Amino acid sequence: MKTKKPTPKIAESYRKIARNDVFIGFIMLVPAIFIAYSVFNWDSVLQNPILLGLFWAALVLVVINLAAEFLNWRCPHCRVFMGMVFNPKYCPRCGEQLR
Ligand SMILES: [Zn+2]
Repeated sequence: MKTKKPTPKIAESYRKIARNDVFIGFIMLVPAIFIAYSVFNWDSVLQNPILLGLFWAALVLVVINLAAEFLNWRCPHCRVFMGMVFNPKYCPRCGEQLR
C-alpha cells in the first residue's frame, strides 16, 4: 500500500541511512582520487615506497567503505540492498515509501 507520507519510523530510519551514505561517500572520495592518480602514474608510484604504501592503504580503505556502504544502503522496511539508486522515494525492492 502506498501513502502520501511514509511511516514515521521508516522515514526516520531512511534519514539516518541517507546521512550515513553521504558520510561514507565523502570518506571514500579521498582514497578513490588517490587510486585514480596512482593508476595514471603507476611507474612513479612503484618507485616510491611511501606512495606505494599509501596506494595499498587507499585500496583497503575503499574496500572497507564499499563493505560499509553495502551494509548501510539497505531498505529500512525489507532490509534488502537498494542498489545504485540516488535518494529514492520508494524502495526499489519492496516499494515501501522512504521519504
Ligand atoms: Zn524495501
